[in-house]
Amino acid sequence: MKIIVLPGDGIGAETVAVAVDALELVSQRYQLGLNLQHDIAGHASLKKYGTTIHEGLMESVKKADGLILGPMATYDFKDESKGEINPSKFFRKGLDLFANIRPAKTYAGSGTTYKPLDLVVVRENTEGFYADRNVESGGSEMLITPDVVVSLRRITRQCCERIARAAFELALTRKKHVTIVHKANVLRIGDGMFIDACLAVAKEFPTVQVDDVIVDAMMAHVVRAPERYDVIVTTNMFGDILSDLTAELAGSLGMAASINAGTTYAMAQAAHGSAPDIAGQNIANPFSQICSAAMLLTWYGQRKGRPEFVQASQALEQAVTQAIAAKESTRDMGGKLGTKETGQALLKRLAPTD
Ligand code: NAD
Repeated sequence: MKIIVLPGDGIGAETVAVAVDALELVSQRYQLGLNLQHDIAGHASLKKYGTTIHEGLMESVKKADGLILGPMATYDFKDESKGEINPSKFFRKGLDLFANIRPAKTYAGSGTTYKPLDLVVVRENTEGFYADRNVESGGSEMLITPDVVVSLRRITRQCCERIARAAFELALTRKKHVTIVHKANVLRIGDGMFIDACLAVAKEFPTVQVDDVIVDAMMAHVVRAPERYDVIVTTNMFGDILSDLTAELAGSLGMAASINAGTTYAMAQAAHGSAPDIAGQNIANPFSQICSAAMLLTWYGQRKGRPEFVQASQALEQAVTQAIAAKESTRDMGGKLGTKETGQALLKRLAPTD
């Protein structure tokens, strides 16, 4: 399996380095033959090539079997004409990675004082309120007068149906329960269509229970009674916001693993950002990036019928679970270790004992 690795900005260099070490170890242990090819995007690329995405990068990603993208300083990239392309958007749109799967699970030993949860946010990734990906060319956010801005939200039945199908398929492997999160009381037509499309797809999955919750109330429900939810399907921005909340409820945004998947390509990228407030201090939690990489191995193993990839992914997830329980983690998860030391402790757990 060939994987392109782009460390990203801020804490990306630190967390992706740990994820790479873990991948190389499981590659040996499970004989995966991983071929990790390192390249750059974001600020490092802007400095070197004058653009956050250099020429030829998309082509090499398309020739590979997967992509690991570190967190990007997207807020810094404001002007595409100056090479400041948002790399996350670039790959999500360019590779049609429509399903952003964001699990949140409470780990024993995490020290969280919130109620335990184990759920997955399935977020549409290619349209919605994200004006930078809604039109074929340019953006759909317009300065009408110096004091008036219009940002278009696009919702299409096709995108609603495919994200719904991804959620229901996932639900079959879990508790067979999908919750549709929306704002159809206000966005009557767009979110009305989102609900309709989800319910149409639901008919193909008669064993899966379906309900729906309005997004603002969902923020309260998921704090108060997270056990009521398992798979949550929602539009782009609601999913982005809700998944940061669920990650933090589970212990830390530093545990927020995610995969961005389409029909042909997939990209592992932690759900959080480049965390400039803690970058370069050896305190960032690397588990979000490791668990994202693990999700990429599962995606590949399931598609290719290669169980050893799924086993390697499970080994990574299990080692992370054990590490947190043993407090071999960063401070956000109740441990006392630095990023590097957390990685080293994890490698010991992953190393073969014979
Ligand atoms: P952020 O997600 O980077 O950080 C929010 C808070 O969570 C910070 O206090 C940070 O220290 C903490 N945090 C994040 N990751 C952590 C980790 N692994 N371990 C421990 N703590 C962690 O959000 P922000 O500060 O609003 O954004 C910073 C930059 O990241 C901005 O440029 C933003 O646009 C960008 N961003 C990128 C992505 C992405 O690449 N997918 C996602 C969100 C934000």
